[in-house]
Amino acid sequence: MGASGFSLDVNGDGDRVRLGSIIWETVCDFIWGDLGEPLYTRMAEYLFEQVTCTADDTSLTWWFGNPGGCCSRSERAGMHWLRYFLAVDWEIFTAMGDHRGLTFASGPPELAATTAEGRLVTLRGDIWSASDDGVGGDDAWIPLEELTVDERAFVAKARGECQCPVCTSPANTPRS
Ligand SMILES: [Zn+2]
Repeated sequence: MGASGFSLDVNGDGDRVRLGSIIWETVCDFIWGDLGEPLYTRMAEYLFEQVTCTADDTSLTWWFGNPGGCCSRSERAGMHWLRYFLAVDWEIFTAMGDHRGLTFASGPPELAATTAEGRLVTLRGDIWSASDDGVGGDDAWIPLEELTVDERAFVAKARGECQCPVCTSPANTPRS
């Protein structure tokens, strides 16, 4: 039962898990705006069912599940999109915290780091993880030699700078 987590330090008396849930719902709205249909529908089950929030007295953690290795692509995408939107829209999320009596003691992720680590690409109507020898979906794999020349070039680019619909959307320019 794998999962990866991303944490922020949070001070204050408010409900951390509630704040984490509201932030994730907002991030999902932003993802919807960039992916559109039908890509969002393909991701929605994962985004709603496999992403959870936990907290202790000083921090808040979002968990991206990968039970039985079922969802490696979605796990990577969910973590990437959370970190991306925290980087781009940090003021929106800190305001949500302020409103609920919670202050982030951590800064946002670095935008350049989030685009470098994404390594996602949109091909053939789906989102894939780009690797050295091919592209992976949650339950699919296309080896490099089965990709076209153009697709291979796109995958090579994605390994250096994420080419997912969120990172390549002109709407997502940092506001500060
Ligand atoms: Zn991306």
